[in-house]
Amino acid sequence: MSDKPFLIVGAGFSGAVLARELAIAGYTVNVIDQRDHIAGNCHTQRDPSTGVMVHQYGPHIFNTSNQEVWDYINQFGKILPFINRVKASIDQGVFSLPINLHTINQFFDKKLTPSEAGTFVETLADLSISDPQNFEEQALRFMGRELYEAFFYGYTKKQWGVEPSELPASILKRLPIRFNYDDNYYNKKYQGIPEQGYSAIMGNILNHPNISVELGRTYTAQMAHAHAHVFYTGPIDQFFEYREGKLGYRTVYWEKEEGEGDLQGNAVINYPDEKVPYTRKHEHKHFAPWETHKKSVLFTEYSKETESGDIPYYPKRLEQDKQVLDKYIELAQQQNRVSFLGRLATYRYMDMEKVIAEALAFSRATVKAQKTGERLPTFPEIT
Ligand code: UDP
Repeated sequence: MSDKPFLIVGAGFSGAVLARELAIAGYTVNVIDQRDHIAGNCHTQRDPSTGVMVHQYGPHIFNTSNQEVWDYINQFGKILPFINRVKASIDQGVFSLPINLHTINQFFDKKLTPSEAGTFVETLADLSISDPQNFEEQALRFMGRELYEAFFYGYTKKQWGVEPSELPASILKRLPIRFNYDDNYYNKKYQGIPEQGYSAIMGNILNHPNISVELGRTYTAQMAHAHAHVFYTGPIDQFFEYREGKLGYRTVYWEKEEGEGDLQGNAVINYPDEKVPYTRKHEHKHFAPWETHKKSVLFTEYSKETESGDIPYYPKRLEQDKQVLDKYIELAQQQNRVSFLGRLATYRYMDMEKVIAEALAFSRATVKAQKTGERLPTFPEIT
């Protein structure tokens, strides 16, 4: 066994969880991150002028039904209950999301019961689509054109920059349609937000005598020499210096506004209308209802194609991206001393719970392989 330390590139959830698990198993771990903070896109910090805890790269609501993940994160900080109740503002008014009985009754000016609403939406649905192949077909099959056009078409086009018919059905499957008045955005057993923010939790995960963290440090291939193995959680195309081309990502950016009191009355309001240039507005103090603030800060979110220097957020995974990805996967598999994990290194749209679950499983596989002398896994097992 090499007595060199391991190197983990990226101090987001993947890197932090892996670092912790390797440290506990007795290994020395160096974590670097090119940014000047830990926690990746989950980073939180207090807004200096309002005191509001801001999710710097967009709001993150922790939601999981995975007991192992829930128990794991709770070791590192208190998560207080938070239920995301999103509204959608369109020409016809302000509606409840995800689409539920309130949305259906208000939108169609009806007073349907759950079973009546189920039957009614069946009459709207395009039942000729038996096996939906993309986002649009999935929507038309399960809700019909009117609801799709009012709440999904414009939002999705703005968010992803392509026609929804080019996107996978899996993106829409993230959201339920309900025939009761439950307006909880998620279906998961546990839902909440860290009382002290995500960066505090991530700081606690990384706080171990076997872990050292260096911020503002960009990975270079030479760093591999001083380390037993590299675990890379950045964009896979960047690792290979884009030699097979760039993978498509959407990025998001915000306009910030400050004011007194309550600016929009809710944490998230979506603007699905194609004519409105932004997708949604976040008022961050509502993500911490246990705190009181006189002032408030509101972020209007815009989406655009990622250009050089922009932060990659949402992997587009269009057909051409998948072909490029396959080439990078092949290159990655030829690397003996580098492993790839997390949202950016595996180029997948992943929620925090999935990132943590994968990092835990990957850590176990790594520790096991290290003990038996087998080759370390190149990628997490993708489920
Ligand atoms: N979506 C939509 N209208 C909405 C909310 C969501 O069309 O008002 C679509 C959109 O394509 C989005 C997807 O549903 O990318 C998943 O939404 P989710 O809220 O899970 O996205 P995230 O919060 O991860 O950006």
